[in-house]
Amino acid sequence: SERADFVVVANRLPVDLERLPDGTERWKHSPGGLVTALEPFLRARHGAWVGWPGVADVDVEPFTDEDMTLRPVRLSSDEFREYYEGFSNATLWPLYHDVVVSPVFDRSWWESYRRVNQRFAEATAEVSAEGATVWVQDYQLQLVPSMLRELRPDLRIGFFLHIPFPPVELFMQLPWRTEIVRGLLGADLVGFHRPGGAQNFLWLARRLAGFEPSRGQVGVRSRPGMVQVGDRTVRVGAFPISIASSELDQLARTKEVQQRAKEIRAELGSPRKIMLGVDRLDYTKGIDVRLHAMHELLAEGRVRADEVAMIQVATPSRERVEHYKQMREDIEREVGRINGEFGRVGHPAVHYLHTHIDRKDLVAFYCAADVMVVTPVRDGMNLVCKEYVASRHDLGGTLVLSEFAGAAAELTSAFLVNPHNLDGVKESLSAALGIEQAEGRRRMRALRRQVLTHDVDRWARSFLEALGAH
Ligand code: UDP
Repeated sequence: SERADFVVVANRLPVDLERLPDGTERWKHSPGGLVTALEPFLRARHGAWVGWPGVADVDVEPFTDEDMTLRPVRLSSDEFREYYEGFSNATLWPLYHDVVVSPVFDRSWWESYRRVNQRFAEATAEVSAEGATVWVQDYQLQLVPSMLRELRPDLRIGFFLHIPFPPVELFMQLPWRTEIVRGLLGADLVGFHRPGGAQNFLWLARRLAGFEPSRGQVGVRSRPGMVQVGDRTVRVGAFPISIASSELDQLARTKEVQQRAKEIRAELGSPRKIMLGVDRLDYTKGIDVRLHAMHELLAEGRVRADEVAMIQVATPSRERVEHYKQMREDIEREVGRINGEFGRVGHPAVHYLHTHIDRKDLVAFYCAADVMVVTPVRDGMNLVCKEYVASRHDLGGTLVLSEFAGAAAELTSAFLVNPHNLDGVKESLSAALGIEQAEGRRRMRALRRQVLTHDVDRWARSFLEALGAH
């Protein structure tokens, strides 16, 4: 088949293979933010997307979807367990999120990670045309840039990390720290959400990549924003990701969404105020923090359950990983406690939804919520808070946001909180619930100015421009 000039490499394809009960298979679109952002570039350049189709132990031939070629990469169920659930989500994920829980260092997981990264690199080398631009995504594929460069020195390679890059002291715990840093240095441009992540990486590159056992000291020098590796220059920078802001703004204005928002308010029994949380059920998200804050506010009588209802949407995630099972139990026990103490028949204090909500309904929830609570202990960016802002064309609603979300650097007109300081969180929640309308509108107007002018298209363009590939 024809080879592509523009290639995206990500753990997942933008479509999922679904196995039906009768044994047949079909493709289902999984339209995430990244897909929406990159689709225009892919279609314009007849691009290719390399990724895992979402089901283990199946071989799938490459195929085309409108103007885009999809190149599936096979994973065995052992590899899914070791490379994905293991090394990616039980080693790298907690390590990169400030060791919120202890990362597991397992040598066979590492072997699997390396093997799978090599397979992604080979698949990418096959589909890439001479001199093509390749954009590798995220923490599951940090070895791909150098493996790919080895196979195809002609390619222009970019890498973007969608999660935080940790402080140097934490990264240094990783037994395979040098391999990971060298893997990333195979790219021409390495992008992070925050300048701090870029700084940490520059320091580590200088410290770890400059020595090779066979050749001794090789020239690795770094200057602000770049690393010199032998005769190659690797650029390093911050590119905060965003959402399709105006699309969301438009969706929020539709009759259907406005009607649904009204229904949600009515179902909860207005004039109750609505406090909303929307997260993957992940220990980094600080769902427990806001539940504890709510619990104490109710117990102290500063919030009354007949005046405020909390909705927590918790999307199922990584359910076979041990820490996730434990956390789910803790959170559900706390929801049960709060409702046991403060709920009435037909009026729970916390409405807990362990499910995935589709886009339209989610935007209706955003429109219905008086206070949006986003309290991660660490988050690369956090898109939910930007989506909330983009949905509030009425300038209603107040955002309470953790300082430890990447988005806090841009959304400075939110109520910013330290999720480790429970009293501070309680103060901000109660201030947000009681905010004067004029003050609320002033803050929301400032937030919207930021989100509407910094959308995901601008993010993709600025990265590709820095890569020299626009
Ligand atoms: N989301 C959704 N339905 C849900 C919960 C979340 O569609 O029930 C979407 C949400 O709109 C957002 C994404 O999932 O686009 C979550 O992104 P974020 O960066 O906030 O967190 P992540 O899950 O990537 O850590």
